[in-house]
Amino acid sequence: MTDRMSLTLAQADPLVAAALEQETLRQHEGLEMIASENFVSEAVLEAAGSVFTNKYAEGYPGRRYYGGCEFADIVENLVRDRARQLFGGEHINAQPHSGSQANASAYAAVLQPGDTILGLDLAHGGHLTHGHRLSFSGKLYRPTFYHVRRDTEQIDYDELEAVAEKEKPKAIIGGASAYPRLWDFARMRQVADKVGAIYIFDMAHIAGLVAGGVHPSPVPHAHITTTTTHKTLRGPRAGLIICTQDLAQAVDKAVFPGQQGGPLVHVVAAKAVALGEALRPEFRAYATQIVANCKALAEAMSEAGFRLVSGGTDNHLILVDVFQKGILGSEAELALGKAGVTVNKNSIPWDTNPPLKPSGIRVGTPALTTRGMKEPEMRQIAVWIAKALEMRNDDAVLERIRGEVAELANQFPLYAWRRPPVAVHAY
Ligand SMILES: *Cc1c(COP(=O)(O)O)cnc(C)c1O
Repeated sequence: MTDRMSLTLAQADPLVAAALEQETLRQHEGLEMIASENFVSEAVLEAAGSVFTNKYAEGYPGRRYYGGCEFADIVENLVRDRARQLFGGEHINAQPHSGSQANASAYAAVLQPGDTILGLDLAHGGHLTHGHRLSFSGKLYRPTFYHVRRDTEQIDYDELEAVAEKEKPKAIIGGASAYPRLWDFARMRQVADKVGAIYIFDMAHIAGLVAGGVHPSPVPHAHITTTTTHKTLRGPRAGLIICTQDLAQAVDKAVFPGQQGGPLVHVVAAKAVALGEALRPEFRAYATQIVANCKALAEAMSEAGFRLVSGGTDNHLILVDVFQKGILGSEAELALGKAGVTVNKNSIPWDTNPPLKPSGIRVGTPALTTRGMKEPEMRQIAVWIAKALEMRNDDAVLERIRGEVAELANQFPLYAWRRPPVAVHAY
């Protein structure tokens, strides 16, 4: 047993090792433009891959249901302290395994099954956990929705208010997965107060922008703020909850034992590392560059003749209406994939096409900004995207772009210990 315990991954399990190797090369050689993805630092990777994975730590720092939690307490307290420093807020729950579980816990803390919730429609940029019928949120609670305006394609706060007055939700949920504009947190809180609702804001996509000071913060306005830690915040795949002190106990109980068992202590440790990084001045520069890159990308795409939903962007992502050029989002995703650019198909507001063949693609800059790319690279990438979409049925052209993409990617190496060969790797 001891012998097997000391084998490397390659020795112990060649199949998994090979998949990991291929994934590493894929991440190096392509241009990662999925708006919800990022590359964590070596330090975050090290913590996430650490022996903390061996530890049970049910409960909270200082009151655990297991012995030997003194070091688990240290990393969890670091998450709480650093998140408070970074975002303000009175109480932090560091344990949600994911953004969805953070939301499930936030709802459970303040709602009863059957209560009405009001969230942004998925088809208009919202998230599954904001009331979609296939999600726990749409089954356990009574979902109602607000939308974006047809003319501006920005949140229709008047409609939100009207629906809130009619439906009297117990919670109003803000936040989105595919919304390129800023939010009016004060207006949402005003509506929540008017109808006696709890205001929950899910800042999963924009947490890193908020941390970096380039996006207003929902924390002073919301009763509960939830987030993922792996998107613009550039931490491990996990969640976090920030709330006012009066809700602290309810939130903590909702996470454990309400929704989860033991925390993933290795992931909690990695969250501490990522939050430490986000507190450093370099992170402000990073967040600023994400937005600058996105603006450059938006301008270049517009110049190439593409219509952007809402006409542009204030944050880290754009929604491109490719159907305006007669291209389906699914076709675009496939063609760009062949060209080495990873994006996802996405519905656009008031889409006339179905979700699996929608009218748009969502394109984001957080991951490429981590690699050190700036405005000139974004303009070059827009040229490639436009070309790949135009020539989407010509595999030779797509393959040629893929080579150029790999060359650019190689100029912005990712993990030093995994620098790929300069030639394009066939897989
Ligand atoms: C990504 C996302 C989530 C869910 O995060 P998971 O960690 O995948 O569960 C929740 N809300 C919003 C707005 C998101 O964008």
